[in-house]
Amino acid sequence: MTNPLFDSLVAPLALRDGTFIIDSAGRETSGRDFHAMALSFASTLTRLGLKPDDRMAVQVEKTPEALALYCAALAAGIIFLPLNTTYTTEEVSYFVSDAGAALLVGDPAKTESLAPLAESHGARFETLDRKGKGSLRDKADSTATDFRPVDRGPDDLAAILYTSGTTGRSKGAMLTQNNLLSNAEVLVKEWRFDSRDVLLHALPIFHTHGLFVACNTVMLSGGTMIFLPGFKTDEVIRWLPKATTMMGVPTFYTRLLDSPAFTRELVAHMRLFTSGSAPLLAETHRQFEERTGHRILERYGMTETNMNTSNPYDGERRAGTVGFPLPGVELKITNPETGATLPARQPGMIEVRGPNVFKGYWQMPEKTKEELREDGFFITGDIGVIDEDGYVTIVGRAKDLIITGGYNVYPKEIELILDEQPGVLESAVIGVPHPDFGEGVVAVLVPKPGEKIDLETIREAMARQLARFKQPKHIAIVDELPLNTMGKVQKNVLRQQFKDLFA
Ligand code: ATP
Ligand code: MG
Repeated sequence: MTNPLFDSLVAPLALRDGTFIIDSAGRETSGRDFHAMALSFASTLTRLGLKPDDRMAVQVEKTPEALALYCAALAAGIIFLPLNTTYTTEEVSYFVSDAGAALLVGDPAKTESLAPLAESHGARFETLDRKGKGSLRDKADSTATDFRPVDRGPDDLAAILYTSGTTGRSKGAMLTQNNLLSNAEVLVKEWRFDSRDVLLHALPIFHTHGLFVACNTVMLSGGTMIFLPGFKTDEVIRWLPKATTMMGVPTFYTRLLDSPAFTRELVAHMRLFTSGSAPLLAETHRQFEERTGHRILERYGMTETNMNTSNPYDGERRAGTVGFPLPGVELKITNPETGATLPARQPGMIEVRGPNVFKGYWQMPEKTKEELREDGFFITGDIGVIDEDGYVTIVGRAKDLIITGGYNVYPKEIELILDEQPGVLESAVIGVPHPDFGEGVVAVLVPKPGEKIDLETIREAMARQLARFKQPKHIAIVDELPLNTMGKVQKNVLRQQFKDLFA
């Protein structure tokens, strides 16, 4: 009997008496106990009637128990479907119904709304709370731990992970055992993870970054995790001395830099900081190095493909870029209209192919056909460019491209200039309907704390550095940009907010 993902990630924990996971209260769980917990969850799920390939939707707080539930799904061949904890009942209802889930595991505090929802979709409902307690745990505690993991092949689905919904309704990405395992193997090697590593884990585990990039990599390497429920600067600073590595989204790093307690001494022992899920400003990269001496390693991936590119572990980690295609990943830049490959230095659609690329969107054959070519290349929807040295830079998303008066405008080009202007903390450039130009360019700026932005200075800089059609027709100043839980700017929210500006 084999179950490649379980055998590689979870089975080895059975032999580990030492700590595998530490929670924010300092509670340590050994590999052996974690493994036993995963197996008792697996036999509980099976007793509840779940069979291989059934879907289990899970909307629970981040705990070692919640991670054990993921491992239980792997053992039992159940397709794991984690959901953002901030999703409303209505949103959860959509995902449970779309995925045809057989079981919904939710927070007991939400029983009143989630239990009837599950029932209406013909799913069971069980609970798990922020302390790892609940009906599912009670059932698991009285279940034997001698569950035998079911047989699975490399092409069997391990998870359906819904995309973040930054550009539209979230789509369910079908991820196979081999998608996840091949990527974890590559990351362990590329980022030099081993059993001595202690990862400070402050990301959510309902997203590919926190669940697969972080947990799969650590489990495969035999390392340890400090599992914090979320990112709180003081908490992270308190735990950093016990860690060797940290994976973060860009906002983690800007928030750490805002704290005077985040010093060179605090992290002198650290081996690696990585960043992804949203663009890390070159400025943040520089400030981080200045403060700590560490160069953040930025990488690029997505729900559908796991990780595609990474800056090198040895060698230059180039600020503002996402590095090189990972081993086994083919990456090309194509003309978005014709699909023809473009030469270096020309921006175009990023397409990727490799064992990391998903099987398609759950119950969306048309969408799958549009984005996943027959030859295996996935059309990412990200616009990128490769420089002479082979480094890939993300220029933006195809959907954020602005077409004004027939000209293409890449928001990133303008944002990079805006970010350099006095008093500007960050910026977002969007296109909104314009009666004459189709779309009009709008710049949304956030001032640095306690500073003022002088619009005249900004306009002059724009006029000096940009062709007329690229210059914002309107500049708005706001207190903050709308960010989602992964620190992504939600440009669709901004476009909605400013849609009538030129009407
Ligand atoms: P949806 O597909 O539903 O619109 P989403 O694309 O934001 O949402 P995710 O799969 O969570 O959902 O995010 C993947 C995207 O995140 C990538 O396509 C890319 O645009 C962005 N991204 C990831 N890493 C980086 C990075 N290092 N720099 C810039 N962008 C990044
Ligand atoms: Mg996407």
